[in-house]
Amino acid sequence: MVQPLTESIALYNGVEIPKLGLGVFLMKDEDELVEAVKAAVEIGYRHFDTAKIYGNEEYLARGLKESGISREEIFLTSKVWNYDQGYEQTKLAFQETLDRLDTDYLDLYLIHWAAPKYVETWRALVELYEEGRVKAIGVSNFQIHHLEELKKQELMQPMINQIETHPEFPQNELHEYMEENGIIHEAWGPLGQGKTDLFNQPVIVELAAKYSKSPAQIILRWHLERGEVIIPKSVHANRIKENSEVFDFSLTAEEMEQMKSLDTGVRYGSDPDDQERLEQSSIRPEETK
Ligand code: NAD
Repeated sequence: MVQPLTESIALYNGVEIPKLGLGVFLMKDEDELVEAVKAAVEIGYRHFDTAKIYGNEEYLARGLKESGISREEIFLTSKVWNYDQGYEQTKLAFQETLDRLDTDYLDLYLIHWAAPKYVETWRALVELYEEGRVKAIGVSNFQIHHLEELKKQELMQPMINQIETHPEFPQNELHEYMEENGIIHEAWGPLGQGKTDLFNQPVIVELAAKYSKSPAQIILRWHLERGEVIIPKSVHANRIKENSEVFDFSLTAEEMEQMKSLDTGVRYGSDPDDQERLEQSSIRPEETK
């Protein structure tokens, strides 16, 4: 086994999060996911990002178990889904997530979206943290106004905000706000989710040639230069490995400046302020029957 990929960032409570993790969104095939996780552990990944709504927490647990790695060496993240939000329901959902992941603690638990009950949900996360059942807590897809609302509650502040980020949608304003407020920026869809032509953009192709790296590696390095945590997803061992080989070079300030030309301001994922979607997805499945 190679050296573990443990280059990390300290959250404001001192917990270290590895800068690189494997995202497992849309990995629905159990055996494929198990093989991907085993390959990732072998390559050195020690950080895995799932969510209740991905429906694969149990598969991830199996992959980690079969990899032979011990629980303490792994940084494990999951997220509370919209219809599980609210104080009581979140606590139940957290225990169910632990059961599916076959563990008695999480390293990071996130509110997946700022659904209508997000303030009560946050109260539950703070308690889970204070009880020592999760090492760090945060949010995902939160805008500045959501973070400001949490601030008003005079509870703990989120340690992380996991948001759609890639060179076409760098989230500069939110990034700056989070930096000022000590909230770590974690990028989802760091490669643009395969929905963009980013890999063929001349500025990226040229940098790839200069550093003898792939376009994907240039993009992942761009995130790291900005101080972000990245969780690129792939089921293929060769790509999982490629995505990990981003710690042996850096981009200059001038190159980071050039990359700014790629900003289109257009997101590919859902709008965090789409209230109709948030309300719809907050209805529990049994209530829609
Ligand atoms: P991503 O940007 O990681 O892109 C994944 C796609 O890129 C893969 O399907 C693959 O086709 C391609 N790819 C991966 N490595 C490549 C390489 N080296 N070369 C060429 N193509 C490559 O998108 P994602 O999976 O949506 O995001 C990463 C993770 O973020 C997810 O798996 C999940 O854990 C998390 N996520 C969170 C949210 C949220 O709302 N919090 C939303 C989406 C994703």
